[in-house]
This record gives sequence, structure tokens and C-alpha cells, in this order.
Amino acid sequence: MKPGNTPFVEFSNLAPAGSRLFAKLEWFNPTGSIKDRAAWFMFENAVANRKLVPGQPLIEATSGNTGIGLARLAVLHGHPMIICLPDTATEERKQLLRAYGADLIEVPGGPNGAIAHARELVEAGEGHMLYQYGNRWNVYAHFFGTSLEIIRDWSLADPPTHFFGAYGTGGTLTGNSRGLVRRWPELQIHSVEPFVDDPISGMRSQNDPFQPPVADLSLVTERHEVHAATATDMVACTMKAEGQFVGTSSGAVLHAAVETLNRDGGTAIALLPDAGWKYVSGPPWSA
Ligand code: PMP
Repeated sequence: MKPGNTPFVEFSNLAPAGSRLFAKLEWFNPTGSIKDRAAWFMFENAVANRKLVPGQPLIEATSGNTGIGLARLAVLHGHPMIICLPDTATEERKQLLRAYGADLIEVPGGPNGAIAHARELVEAGEGHMLYQYGNRWNVYAHFFGTSLEIIRDWSLADPPTHFFGAYGTGGTLTGNSRGLVRRWPELQIHSVEPFVDDPISGMRSQNDPFQPPVADLSLVTERHEVHAATATDMVACTMKAEGQFVGTSSGAVLHAAVETLNRDGGTAIALLPDAGWKYVSGPPWSA
């Protein structure tokens, strides 16, 4: 099963009066997140270009979702999968990765610590790394995939005014901004980020010293920094208003979208990376 063609729905209860809010539900991908797209594009390209040879171990540094997407492909195609992930990753993510057959190496130092460790393994000849932070197929997954689906599924006569995406590796924002601004030159592109000292799983701040080489945020017109607690409040709010159980980064994206629609009005698109099931051991569901 290929990723993509996820539902595009209206969140009419969350939208402030006089504005409209549309959401693309990325947890309808094969392993439940937006990163199935990048995983599939990067994997297929590496096989086609013979960078990844049959049976060769795959190594990746990931906070979880890319690893889950890659682990599924590794099982399907007979590659051992080694995941370097921050030791702060939620238990559900670790259990899911193990269920998909991956070997886990838990590394201190957050996502940057995981990247450094994965690089060491590759240098030691332990396997091939697709390296989502520097792999242009991470961007192409959105340029040739997500953004075209959004354009195809847009049904209003007038163009959308705002697009909201979470910043992690930059794949989402780079690929979608390039694809969507080509079609709708006036579209405002909003980057949603955590504060450096208040992380949200899967997301990165532009103030972080490490900026992924693949990220090109030149089309971004506005940045929104969202506290983790604000994002989880919005998760609970979305459950009540729309009956959708979104993940924490989706909560951050929706918070920024609703705040902006309150201020500016308009029609917004929010790209929601995953659902809330992987986060039930954290706030607001558990202490
Ligand atoms: N939200 C979640 C839950 C993620 O796992 C990721 C991927 N790191 C993102 C947002 C950001 O996506 P991208 O890597 O395309 O910037």
C-alpha cells in the first residue's frame, strides 16, 4: 500500500465565525503518520538508484514517525532496521517500532544526539542511512504528493488564504510551500514550531542550532511558536469540537491556524501530521 490520498475535511466547529478551516488527516497513511510519505519516497529512490542493496541494514535517526514508516518498508523488503531515537521518545513509539521489527538504540541529547549516533554507525559500515534531514526525496514526497492532493481536493471557487504546517525536518513545509505557492501565489505559508526549551515530539525550532540541510523556508511568510501545553490544550479542544483525536504537533498547527483566522479571517488549510494514539501516556491524558 502506497502512502497518500489522505482525507481532506472541513473543521467547521473549530473555525472562527466568518472563516473556514480545512484539515488534511495524515494519520490515514499506512503506519499512521505524514512520514510514511517521505519514508516511501526515500526508500524507493534508494532502491532504484542501487544505493540500498538487497538485505542491507537500514539505519535512521528519527523521533519516531519516520522510523515507523521505514520499519514497515524494511520488513516488507527484507532489510534489518536500526533506529536511533531520543531516549525521551514516548513508550508507545518504542513499542510500535519494536512491533514493526526494528532494533532500537536510545540516545541521550534529543534528536541531535540521535543524528550524531546514526552517523557514527554509518561511518562504521553498519548499514545505509536514508538521512531524512538531507534527503531531497523527503521534500519531493510533498512537492509531488501532498501538495498536488491538496490542489486536487480544493473545492472552493476562491483560493485558500493560509497554509499551516509543522516544522520538523522541513520536508512538509519545503515541499508543500513550493507546490502550493506555484498554484496559489498569494497563499500565506505558516511555519508552526515549538520553543527550543519546550519541545513537541517530531518538531524543531528555527532557533535550534541544527537546521536540516533539506529545509528551505524561504516561502514561509509567518512563524508561530507554540508551547507544548498550548498544543495539548488544542488536542483536547479538537476532540470535543470535531471528534478527531489529533497528535500534539497537529494540536500546535491547529492552534496557530485558529489564532490566525481569528486575527485575519480567510480560508485556511492545516496539515495534521498524526493522531493522538501515540501520546496517551503524556499530557493531557496522563500525568
Ligand atoms: N509532526 C510529527 C508528529 C512528526 O513526526 C514530524 C516529523 N518529524 C513532523 C510533525 C514534521 O514533519 P517534517 O519532518 O516533514 O518537517
